[in-house]
Amino acid sequence: MPQLNLYGLSVEELSEVLRPLDARSFTARQIAAQLYGRGVRDFARMTDLPVSIRQSLAERFSILLPEPARILESGDGTVRYVLSLPAGGSVEAVMIPDRGRVTLCLSSQAGCALGCTFCMTATLGLERNLSPGDIAGQAALLMERHHLEVNTFNIVLMGMGEPLHNYDSVVAALRLLTDTPAGFGLSPRRVTISTAGLAPQIEALGREPVVPRLAVSLNATTDESRSRLMPINRRYPIARLMEACRAFLSRRGSRLTLEYVMLSGVNDAPSDLQRLARLALSLPARVNLIPFNTTPELAFQPSPAEIVHDFREGLVERGVMASIRRSRGRDIRAACGQLAFGMSGEGDATRRAGSVHPEGGVFS
Ligand code: SAH
Repeated sequence: MPQLNLYGLSVEELSEVLRPLDARSFTARQIAAQLYGRGVRDFARMTDLPVSIRQSLAERFSILLPEPARILESGDGTVRYVLSLPAGGSVEAVMIPDRGRVTLCLSSQAGCALGCTFCMTATLGLERNLSPGDIAGQAALLMERHHLEVNTFNIVLMGMGEPLHNYDSVVAALRLLTDTPAGFGLSPRRVTISTAGLAPQIEALGREPVVPRLAVSLNATTDESRSRLMPINRRYPIARLMEACRAFLSRRGSRLTLEYVMLSGVNDAPSDLQRLARLALSLPARVNLIPFNTTPELAFQPSPAEIVHDFREGLVERGVMASIRRSRGRDIRAACGQLAFGMSGEGDATRRAGSVHPEGGVFS
């Protein structure tokens, strides 16, 4: 019989599985502190536990995290990991160094069910939801490989998948990441969840005990255009989405960013700029403009650099805080919307990686 993997279990779940072992009541908490707080992956090294307990743990349980199946390094320092998950399947995670700061971009699902027409991950469909351990384990792995101390980096759930479509695992992972000492001890302000706009889950997230930063992928300013780009808009149109964003923002200390992928001739007209400014001011939210990353499989073109620049200026003139995301790791297909090859055709991805055109320019 395969051993039960303890990695990712909460203190309560650990207490439950430890029950037959006749362990002391605080043993679960000690194990969680070792696993998540100190990154210990070997029962023998949990020296605050009695030897007999360590032995019974090793006989019954395993500690398994996502493991690198392939590592690709970009010329700009970005490192893309294709990871095999302990329970099967694979996802991608990306380490992005930027002027002394590091961002870890993690996945929440293998593939994605939402079908956004400008995103490569969507072409895979949903393979499976990640467990809390799969999500927190990506952070643990990247921290270890890049020697990152707690609270010296940010985490964004902007890799593969729709985090709020895997709500329970994402919230459980958030607890693992932010608890202390039974978790990693990260500040919730250093964790950003990015969503395509699942309104009820946005509202629920605002009521959680631990609230992360939220980024909402708006990407269009009319329902007609947004429904074409993001089918989820038919279920939760812009007005409903804004209502959910307002509910989230009513939570004290919460912050929200609107993300806006700039697609030439699709969402970059002056009228879009006006509507985008109005939506952002109505929350209020800051705006992050994302230069579209092309792949030969997708029919869209990036907005010219001048238009992206003008959009930012126009937003700022109207009183909106706005920035342009610097695209990173395009040469290894690690940029936004390009994660798709961890699961199949990985050989193809590597071959294609050399021929990606860095269209749209690099913004700084
Ligand atoms: N499902 C979540 C998180 C994953 S996508 C969400 O939708 O927010 C993370 C960001 O990348 C989103 O803002 C998305 O709009 C953007 N994105 C997707 N495909 C892209 C592409 N080809 N080029 C640039 N950004 C893209």
